Amino acid sequence: NNEELFCIGCGSKIQSENKDELGYTPQSAIEKGLETDELYCQRCFRLRHYNEIADVSLTDDDFLRLLNQIGSSDALIVNVIDIFDFNGSIIPGLHRFVGDNEILLVGNKVDLLPKSVKRSKVKDWLRQEANKQGLRPVDVMLTSASKGYEVDELLDLINKYRKGRDVYVVGVTNVGKSTLINKIIQQQTGINELITTSRFPGTTLDKIEIPFDDDKNLIDTPGIIHNYQMAHFLKGKSLKFASPKKEIKPKVYQLNEGQTIFLGALARFDYISGGKTGVVAYLDNDLMLHRTKTENADKFYEKHAGGLLQPPYNDEMNDFPELVRFEFKITEKSDIVFSGLGWITVKENTIVAGWAPKGVSVVVRRAMV
Ligand code: GDP
Repeated sequence: NNEELFCIGCGSKIQSENKDELGYTPQSAIEKGLETDELYCQRCFRLRHYNEIADVSLTDDDFLRLLNQIGSSDALIVNVIDIFDFNGSIIPGLHRFVGDNEILLVGNKVDLLPKSVKRSKVKDWLRQEANKQGLRPVDVMLTSASKGYEVDELLDLINKYRKGRDVYVVGVTNVGKSTLINKIIQQQTGINELITTSRFPGTTLDKIEIPFDDDKNLIDTPGIIHNYQMAHFLKGKSLKFASPKKEIKPKVYQLNEGQTIFLGALARFDYISGGKTGVVAYLDNDLMLHRTKTENADKFYEKHAGGLLQPPYNDEMNDFPELVRFEFKITEKSDIVFSGLGWITVKENTIVAGWAPKGVSVVVRRAMV
């Protein structure tokens, strides 16, 4: 009888009946897990040991149900986003679901931004972008979950704004929510790596509750999966380019009209018109950028994608979607964002195009830096 058992990785209820459902664990593994006091469901076990991932059935409907539940309770909402992938971090319609509840906006992965970028400026930018999405956060905060920056300060702010209420932590997958919760647990209890984290999108399942001093809880919710994130189209060693680990070193390019920059074979930037100009690329430092003439670019890609242009690598190109083009007329200094991969900052009065694999969006926004 496994009624009361939960996976220490993702919080799912342990079951050994249905392989395709959350919490599946073979009976033998349950016994072993109980012996060692480390009971992981099969999915988390595999993630930890082999970096392997199985599909599970957590649908958008489940997530909407969860959001509705949050909306009908009196709580503080902590919305964690990835400042490196702002657009990919937005939970569609969040402001409609939270009702009258206050939102604390946490921009995670601040360690990726160049040190020269003023944090106060990024905060202002974040607040303005959030406002455009209909979110009116009570406060904005920048953290690095992986480096443990500002986690204490975040806890202080949470305690300031929760006013004796529960706290729901929400976010789409891959923003670093599990890493952040782990740091919070560590700070509060001294336990390391309680929650499974990994580079694979969709790792956190079910709710995890961490008690405060009063009878209230900090509740970690499953991340909603944004299917258009670049990470969903990458695997193996290609995946790390959509999840940089180090401070980004911006790369400056002087471009003439009719020049193209390939971002490995993952994406492409065309400079169409506006005279000689400087653009700045904010991408994983190891991602190879390749400049060529736009008129030859299609052929070049066909010939070299997976080879000279990588990632993806040769054996992965078959499953990789074709690149789709989005054209933008730029009227103010802007970022052309390749969702999940990074961005290229361009000057005003130019026309440019961004290409990304079919299913991944390219958007333009007011420049962050
Ligand atoms: P979740 O799906 O939101 O729970 O995200 P995870 O905590 O599993 O993290 C997703 C990926 O982002 C992992 O590769 C983490 O190592 C990475 N990550 C998490 N927090 C940070 C951070 O503060 N900075 C950087 N650079 N990477 C982070």
